Amino acid sequence: MLTACEGRQLGGNVPVSVATGPAPLIVIVVDTLRYDHVTPERMPNVMKLAEDGVSFSRAFSHAPMTLPAHTALFSSTYPGQNGVKVNGTPVPGDLPLVSKWLANQGYQTAAVASLATLWSSQPQQSLDQGFDTFTHVFRDYSHGPKTTERIGEVMEGLTDQPLFLFAHFADPHEPYRDFESTEPQLQLKVNGLVLEELTTSHSPHFQAKCELQEGDHEVSLISDGDFVMRSLYVHDSASGARIPLVLTEGKRLSTLQAVRGTFHLDKPATVDIESWVNDHPSQAEAKLRYRAEVTVADKAVGKLLRDLQSMGIYDQSLIVFTSDHGEAFGEHAWNGHSESLFDELLHVPLIVKPPAGQGDLRIRLGQSAQALIRHVDVVPTVLDILELPVMPGMVGVSLLDPQRGDLPLLAETHQPEASQDQLCLRNRAHKLLYFPETGSFQLFDLRADPLETQDVFTAKGHQFSVWQEELRERAEQAHQVRELPQPRQKSDLIESLGY
Ligand SMILES: [Zn+2]
Repeated sequence: MLTACEGRQLGGNVPVSVATGPAPLIVIVVDTLRYDHVTPERMPNVMKLAEDGVSFSRAFSHAPMTLPAHTALFSSTYPGQNGVKVNGTPVPGDLPLVSKWLANQGYQTAAVASLATLWSSQPQQSLDQGFDTFTHVFRDYSHGPKTTERIGEVMEGLTDQPLFLFAHFADPHEPYRDFESTEPQLQLKVNGLVLEELTTSHSPHFQAKCELQEGDHEVSLISDGDFVMRSLYVHDSASGARIPLVLTEGKRLSTLQAVRGTFHLDKPATVDIESWVNDHPSQAEAKLRYRAEVTVADKAVGKLLRDLQSMGIYDQSLIVFTSDHGEAFGEHAWNGHSESLFDELLHVPLIVKPPAGQGDLRIRLGQSAQALIRHVDVVPTVLDILELPVMPGMVGVSLLDPQRGDLPLLAETHQPEASQDQLCLRNRAHKLLYFPETGSFQLFDLRADPLETQDVFTAKGHQFSVWQEELRERAEQAHQVRELPQPRQKSDLIESLGY
């Protein structure tokens, strides 16, 4: 029987001023942010950051998936080299990461990561390695304003060491929210009593504590319209242990109108009930919502930048802003990411704001503003600017290196998240795609055909025999790479995101 429940109120503390050492590093990643959506209208705060630094117009990710893209970014190695080819893969403990490298250099390291794909079911098996603090708001997905609040709480606990902060914003990753709708459509019930009414188009997370007697209990989600249940958990509040919930109606990630589950308590207990639901917009509606979410992410980033200013560390900080991958809205017959290596999934924003008072750094970085930049080049550039030792194993080249030139991009996507393995090499003029399963290639002339609609491999492929050979070798390397064993059971967190 239901005794008492109350919704959880999350904190919203304002950061206080902290003393820091020289050159803090702030890396801000807005997940799933297409390059062409970073405009003054949609992202004025990000554009303001660009005015203080350098915006690179041809920056690219190495993978259209969250964990492989971030691992490549933080290790300056390719997915097919480091073994993190899909989400849910453990990050090898011996892989050099910028977090571990900066911790060894005396940096205090903190991260707020707002998407489950950056988390592991076991500590220190994912990108939490090297971070003194690696935290989140909700376990599987939290929105920009909450993420900024949590960053503020983390910053309150900092000492005066130099700081590396990784701020990760899940918006505008799907599910895309509708900010206009206000009518609740769904009731979350415990033992038949309404605990909360939720608006499914807001993609709400809800968490509540309930004091319950011993015995059997039912938790249900009931709606007049269709909705998708991403997750529904019951935990013992005291121990945090998961209480098994048996679904008697409905299942995760299906479109439905009712979900019911039962659980049993051997003794009276306080439990945490946690749910995450969303509605199912049309493609056109999804695109509109995505744009709105981009603006929400911009506001959250703007709040973070203002907090850094009020703490007195904005000017002296090296700030990197980017995204892990883009998003498709019907291009190449696809919606979402993971599936292909076309530019709508690989072309990302990249802004670097150097620390103030370091001479001509901004001018020197600006000389690469139009060059093709790879995510693997970011950490070498950061360490160069911070005047720190070179991290072992990096395949990228600092943007400050006068010899670097335009280096080709290598990108990859892999099964099972993609329907087939693919690798590509891309420079400013061409992209060569390789499909190892069939041994076939596609070639796109990016100057004549920037939307990558005409495969010209038959006519021009012979001009790219060196790239063909490299892609075959890279595919073999990716096939042979040591992969750590997958967790025995696929993480609930990953599944709630639909991977
Ligand atoms: Zn992502």
